[in-house]
Amino acid sequence: MIVVWFKKDLRVYDHKPLSLASQLGPAQFIYVYEQELLNEASYSPAKHSFLNDSLAELDQNLRKLGASLTTFRGTLPGVFAQIHSRTPITLLLSHEETGNHLSYRRDIRVKEWCREAGVKWQEFPQTGVIRALKNRDGWARSWNKRMNEAIIPAPNSLNLAGDNTRKDPTLYTPSELGVKGLVQDKIQKGGESQAHALLQSFLTERGKGYSSEMSSPITAENSRSRLSTYLAYGNISIKSVFQATQQRQEEIKSINPKPKYWGRSLSAFSGRLRWHYHFMQKLEDEPSLEHFNLNRGFDELRSEFDEEKFEAWKLGETGYPIIDACMKYLRQTGWINFRMRAMLVSFSSYHLWLPWQRPAEYLAELFLD
Ligand SMILES: Cc1cc2nc3c(=O)[nH]c(=O)nc-3n(C[C@H](O)[C@H](O)[C@H](O)COP(=O)(O)OP(=O)(O)OC[C@H]3O[C@@H](n4cnc5c(N)ncnc54)[C@H](O)[C@@H]3O)c2cc1C
Repeated sequence: MIVVWFKKDLRVYDHKPLSLASQLGPAQFIYVYEQELLNEASYSPAKHSFLNDSLAELDQNLRKLGASLTTFRGTLPGVFAQIHSRTPITLLLSHEETGNHLSYRRDIRVKEWCREAGVKWQEFPQTGVIRALKNRDGWARSWNKRMNEAIIPAPNSLNLAGDNTRKDPTLYTPSELGVKGLVQDKIQKGGESQAHALLQSFLTERGKGYSSEMSSPITAENSRSRLSTYLAYGNISIKSVFQATQQRQEEIKSINPKPKYWGRSLSAFSGRLRWHYHFMQKLEDEPSLEHFNLNRGFDELRSEFDEEKFEAWKLGETGYPIIDACMKYLRQTGWINFRMRAMLVSFSSYHLWLPWQRPAEYLAELFLD
């Protein structure tokens, strides 16, 4: 039996493992709630809600193709071993993931298990991140090449292995999995259809003023694409966003060769899609960036940690109106625009002189993306 392992790629459109499974034969389509990742400080009820929205829609879409999603909770590779003992897995298909040290170590364990169990594991890139890159020269060229590869349509049908009862997948709640944290009640809803609708409205209406309205947190809410969380969970592939943007650029140019607003806005947007994976590539190449200063010469610069200032910053009670307003907005919505993110971090590092690691962890908990 083939197993398609969904992780941060919760979609059916432009999904290579799924397309391959549709050609190769009976498969199971699984998602694993990994306890180790759920226990992380940066995981939150809001992220869990976005995840479950995405899984519910993924299951609906798989059903339209004749299959369904099965969820598991546990650790890896333990869950694979369990499945394998019941029905031997011949091929494990998934996308590569650039996550953090936990997902990296998990991947090493899975690789080892596959080798011992005689299971072939095939992974496919889905972003611009290049594994085991020797140096970053020429990275932009490789990125462009990846982004211009053909989009993979959703399969016409899938062949489900095992009992064909197609039970509803179990979507574990935060309390069942021990996920605790701040309740953020104005977050975006996860899922593939939401992602495509946002892309569409951005490219046809909302994005016109992108380049001039991106800085203010008030205008940015509508004028930025708001796709970041959908990209993080893989509800939409970066390649489809990139190619749809290119098509829209051409369409606009064919109407007006020098479009004033759209031209500037869409080229700024397209550049930012590249930034995203440029920074992720840095993390892939230098994973220590997650915890340590890029320049180790600064390690001792901020030695004391002022808990009181940290608490005030976290709650949006510093007394600086724009800082506090942005923090309160972020605590409700799980999102804020780039300039305000940079401002919140700068304020904690320079004005409050806090070492960045704990503020970073706190922001990671608040950001849905
Ligand atoms: C302290 C800090 C933390 C950040 N944390 C995250 C994060 O956890 N996840 C995340 O996706 N982005 C992060 N960003 C980058 C950026 O702020 C968000 O990508 C953006 O605000 C998301 O909103 P959007 O999708 O509407 O962006 P848009 O402006 O519509 O951009 C489209 C896409 O381009 C990428 N992008 C845009 N701006 C940047 C940028 N400055 N750097 C890298 N990629 C960018 C994102 O994938 C984004 O979804 C962070 C920036 C700062 C300063």
